[in-house]
Amino acid sequence: MSESHPSTSSFEPGQIPPGVMEALLRPSTNRPTSRTLASFPNGVTDVSTPASEHQVNKHDLLCPRPECGSVILLAGVAQLVEKPSVQMEPADRTPALLPPLPEPPAMAAWWRVAPSPMEFENIGFSKPLSSSPGAPQMKLLVCAECDLGPVGWSEVGGTEFWLACSRVGYRATT
Ligand SMILES: [Zn+2]
Repeated sequence: MSESHPSTSSFEPGQIPPGVMEALLRPSTNRPTSRTLASFPNGVTDVSTPASEHQVNKHDLLCPRPECGSVILLAGVAQLVEKPSVQMEPADRTPALLPPLPEPPAMAAWWRVAPSPMEFENIGFSKPLSSSPGAPQMKLLVCAECDLGPVGWSEVGGTEFWLACSRVGYRATT
């Protein structure tokens, strides 16, 4: 048996200090558990809450990749807006972890983030997409940690950033 060092947290080389194994075996608290929009029985109604004249996001919005869970936006920052869907990628190129969005002009539920990307906790942007002449150029929003996306879009130089409600994770509350 090694002698104990009551006044410090030092430990013998090769010896696992008390509590560490337990901490490793516990689910990481740095990686929040997220829920998909589809897991809420009432969809966007369950994940939004009234704030002044509009509805805002009730939960922190996370990367939907279960092993990532990077925090994209804090609760209360985005406004819920129903507006026409946007095809962010070719229909046959939707990443497996993301649900397809309805075909425009069908409506979709969006989280509107404004006026600048500083509102986000973590977000990544694609290069501007090539667009038809006269049409606004679009950038896609992706997870800053793992590049999963597109989870949303913005216009180049724009002041509004749109996250698809169905493509972000919702931090599970305990
Ligand atoms: Zn991610």
